Amino acid sequence: MYNKKSLKAEEFINHDEILRTLEFAEKNKNNLDLINQILDKARPVKKGNETNCAGLTHEEASILLACEDKEITQKIFKLAEDIKSAFYGDRIVIFAPLYLSNYCVNGCVYCPYHYQNKQIPRKKLTQEELIQEVIALQDMGHKRLAIEAGEDPVNNPIEYILECINTIYSIKHKNGAIRRVNVNIAATTVENYKKLHDVGIGTYILFQETYHKDSYEKLHPTGPKHNYAYHTEAMDRAMEGGIDDVGLGVLFGLERYKYEFAGLLMHAEHLEAVHGVGPHTISVPRIKNADDIDASQFDNGIDDDTFAKLVALIRIAVPYTGLIVSTRETQEVRERLLKLGVSQVSGASRTSVGGYCEEERPVDTEQFDVSDQRSLDEVIRWLLELGQIPSFCTACYREGRTGDRFMSLCKTGLIQNCCQPNALITLKEFLEDYASDDTKKIGEEFIQKELSKIKNENLKETISKNLKEIENGNRDFRF
Ligand code: SAM
Repeated sequence: MYNKKSLKAEEFINHDEILRTLEFAEKNKNNLDLINQILDKARPVKKGNETNCAGLTHEEASILLACEDKEITQKIFKLAEDIKSAFYGDRIVIFAPLYLSNYCVNGCVYCPYHYQNKQIPRKKLTQEELIQEVIALQDMGHKRLAIEAGEDPVNNPIEYILECINTIYSIKHKNGAIRRVNVNIAATTVENYKKLHDVGIGTYILFQETYHKDSYEKLHPTGPKHNYAYHTEAMDRAMEGGIDDVGLGVLFGLERYKYEFAGLLMHAEHLEAVHGVGPHTISVPRIKNADDIDASQFDNGIDDDTFAKLVALIRIAVPYTGLIVSTRETQEVRERLLKLGVSQVSGASRTSVGGYCEEERPVDTEQFDVSDQRSLDEVIRWLLELGQIPSFCTACYREGRTGDRFMSLCKTGLIQNCCQPNALITLKEFLEDYASDDTKKIGEEFIQKELSKIKNENLKETISKNLKEIENGNRDFRF
């Protein structure tokens, strides 16, 4: 039986409920009255200083996804853009992945780090190598990382991960600092989540890969990741362990996207129902070629138009959840998705262990092919030229604005009062310390233009003071 409050995977991600939803969506895909009502429900509503958005249930959102009417698709895109600008403005948060170890005991059939792959060189960073990687990332201007590791209790035990996190936070090279470490490691125990919480991680990220249990078991034939329930219930354990911010994701291409979409939203509804706070972020990776992986062997790949509609509908259904798109996607696809609701992008990513210290991109050991291979400076300039504000902000979690505290500020739109100034201040740091002359020029003009739009004179004055302080060599101001 479907029960979003249940703690059992097969009850809160219920196969029959997904099938019922998809059938209902298919039946109603031309019901324009219903579809327009759903769109109306999802529109941002302004009350005084506050803007609210109702979001959508998995059933409502699935009807919109099923609808093929071109005019409705345009309405969906427009609504996603409106919600994006109401809650996120033009800000795009920047991060980079950092691979610690590619040792893995799992048999995931889509991932080149699966244990049967004997041709890929296995590597685990020593603390000295990690320091060099972090320095390389700091020297580009990164402030926020997502650490990645295969699952291997012998080579990558939790103690190793914790030691790495402590090392990363401790490195202060020139004006650099990593101020938020998000963690993407395999499902683990409440006790281990407590330990991750205690070393001060940002978001705990775990991709579901697929919500379809039978497919999940076939795609993960061996190793601890084979256990669907243990994997699917990981976010509940993470929250029990004190982690406020969790990040969901589906690896699109493994299963039918409509099934995954309904499952993903049911997972978000479950977290909200049980913990009072939905996912902090949702990632939308699509499967890519890699060492011994041929992405075309997976028959559920989605084209760019369907992908754009999916992203827009996630934005509409869970308006307060950050949406992440990685360098798996090309510049062109990323550009399109920015408008439709993406709020975080990675930049200058290397997806192999030790990749940031290599002169040339080490393609043979990458976890997947990187489509957007531009430098961080190029990514920042690109965003500025598109009128987006690249943000290196990490203030929320450092100020204790996590979980429901973050969500309640976000739900009223009041978070904008912090995000906009923090984005400008952290962009200024990047321009002072790391930008090329061209990027610096565009960025400085951009900051002045944004500053002139701020109506609150006190706020404008404080930001201007902070910007001056940064020019004088001081760092790390935040609202
Ligand atoms: N081992 C951890 C786990 O089990 O969740 C860490 C995750 S792994 C380093 C990061 C993510 O990369 C995976 O969750 C998967 O969705 C994605 N991934 C794996 N192989 C991929 C491929 N061939 N193309 C695109 N993404 C891939």
